[in-house]
Amino acid sequence: MTLLSVENLTTAFQTERGQVTAIEDISFSVDRGEILGIVGESGSGKSVTALAIMGLLPMPPARILGGHIRFDGTELLGLSDRAMQRLRGPGVAMVFQEPMTSLNPVFTIGEQIIETVKAHERLSEREAFARAVEMLERVGIPSASMRMRDYPHQLSGGQRQRVMLAIALVCRPRLLIADEPTTALDVTIQAQILDLILDLRDELGMAVMIITHNMGVIAETADRVLVTYAGRVVEQAPVDQLFDHPLHPYTRGLLACVPTVEQDQDRLQAIPGNLPEPARRPPGCRFSDRCGWAIPACQEALPPLADFGGDHRAACIRVRELA
Ligand code: ADP
Ligand code: MG
Repeated sequence: MTLLSVENLTTAFQTERGQVTAIEDISFSVDRGEILGIVGESGSGKSVTALAIMGLLPMPPARILGGHIRFDGTELLGLSDRAMQRLRGPGVAMVFQEPMTSLNPVFTIGEQIIETVKAHERLSEREAFARAVEMLERVGIPSASMRMRDYPHQLSGGQRQRVMLAIALVCRPRLLIADEPTTALDVTIQAQILDLILDLRDELGMAVMIITHNMGVIAETADRVLVTYAGRVVEQAPVDQLFDHPLHPYTRGLLACVPTVEQDQDRLQAIPGNLPEPARRPPGCRFSDRCGWAIPACQEALPPLADFGGDHRAACIRVRELA
């Protein structure tokens, strides 16, 4: 059963050099209880997609040029601020890459979790406190009732990310969007946080969108994967299918460079060149200027996201020749 469906979403930013599109014609869906991984290099449009779903894109400079975002059947684009606020928390919640920027330094973590629950549920101070402690325990913060009085700076990076998860999960969202939730953490803590997200998915039956630049994170968490490049989806497949039979040259490049969570790296050595700035994307296939298999036809038109069966799609005109 589909929980979230994004259709042909296109967003742009107003910049000094004019309007540039950040994401173009993005479509995907997330089923109830499913973990969808979104992977791609920095700048490929992953966070913009997440923020658009949350209704948190800064508009202006951002603008939605077209498409639909449906959550449990409700169109979110054009929903009032109040309705979006009601949805954030019990409907969709998000954790960000750098927890220090999203935790408020002047309030204790207890106050911040309690404020979140009370914004959505009629609970007494005592009930809200108990719920916050329960959630902190659940995300693995020891001596939770004492830690409620701590300020964010008193916690380690890993603990802050756990607190962010507690805030995101305290209203029991049906969809958790985790945007590079472990990128700022060392590898041991990273693995613990990913395990925790998997456990909580099973326990709460929530769907998860996990956003990363690391194929290792995808391998350990996702059921299905979306590969993004320069604002577009270039491949989509069930996780085993993607790792066993990658179709797009970009996906093959990603798989050649980061095989495990332990070897995290933001630069993808195996693919020469850089992701193009939005205003400098090549015509036709956005990856054509970095692709070892490109032929002149690749720059003539945008390749459609073609269906290769078994929920496996790829946007490359050379897939059959490369197979
Ligand atoms: P990712 O999360 O995949 O690293 P983003 O979604 O943050 O990438 O960015 C996608 C594109 O949108 C990038 O080209 C980025 O430069 C552009 N972008 C993001 N935020 C802004 C902004 N506030 N103003 C202008 N451009 C932006
Ligand atoms: Mg990002």
